[in-house]
Amino acid sequence: FSGSAGFSTKGLQLDGVKNIVAIASGKGGVGKSTTAVNLAVALAKKCQLKVGVLDADVYGPSVPTMMNLHGEPEVTEDRKIVPFQNYGVKCMSIGFLVPKDSPLVWRGPMVASALEKLSRGVDWGNLDILVVDMPPGTGDTQITISQRLQLTGVLIVTTPQDVALIDARRGVTMFSKVEVPILGIIENMSCFKCPNCGHPSYIFGNGGARRTADEMCLDYLGEIPLEIDVVKASDEGVPLVVSAPDSSVTKGYNDLAQKL
Ligand code: ADP
Repeated sequence: FSGSAGFSTKGLQLDGVKNIVAIASGKGGVGKSTTAVNLAVALAKKCQLKVGVLDADVYGPSVPTMMNLHGEPEVTEDRKIVPFQNYGVKCMSIGFLVPKDSPLVWRGPMVASALEKLSRGVDWGNLDILVVDMPPGTGDTQITISQRLQLTGVLIVTTPQDVALIDARRGVTMFSKVEVPILGIIENMSCFKCPNCGHPSYIFGNGGARRTADEMCLDYLGEIPLEIDVVKASDEGVPLVVSAPDSSVTKGYNDLAQKL
């Protein structure tokens, strides 16, 4: 993939949806889905916006677990899927349409048609913002979403260490080539504060995302600390912005929501 020829993005808008913001990362496991759901809930609760989440990570959907939504969605008379809703956010994921433990063994074109169904085939109603949780990397899904949906922009999530930052740069370069505006970079797991003495430890390094943003002339949108409670909250299906409204993680996501 060495140029934008053939990859121009003139995606179509979704009926009733004002903005579509993709949450992307180069590497997996950096907290992209965590950011997508917490940011979505922050946008709904703190900014009083009408928000949806589209889980575009069809090979590893996390949204059903993180938002505690399960079951089979209903279909409207005009054959649109009715999204589930929790914490004030409408959600759609392939996880609602296939059995929980069965892997998807799909080639690119099947993924593309699934993404079409999960986006345009859904009765989203009126939304101020649809947050799209992308899979990691720079593959089929990223290109399909960029081409088919008119993205307002993409937010890049990274952790501070070089192996994540190098892939984050790849993501930035790819989205630039397909002409999707980069809204900025956010650093997750930036610092761990000892719950006993408050001493900060920069487990994965210090300031890497800010440096990368500066070098690439992108906005640095802030950092989210590493906190044990995030994992429990995700696994239990209650985003931390709901279960711990006063935590520094929640503050980070509320600040991010207000910057968008
Ligand atoms: P990705 O979508 O990038 O693969 P996830 O959002 O699934 O990453 O997060 C990977 C794991 O890291 C999950 O177990 C999640 O709970 C945990 N995690 C994410 N962000 C944080 C954080 N700030 N502090 C602690 N754990 C986190």
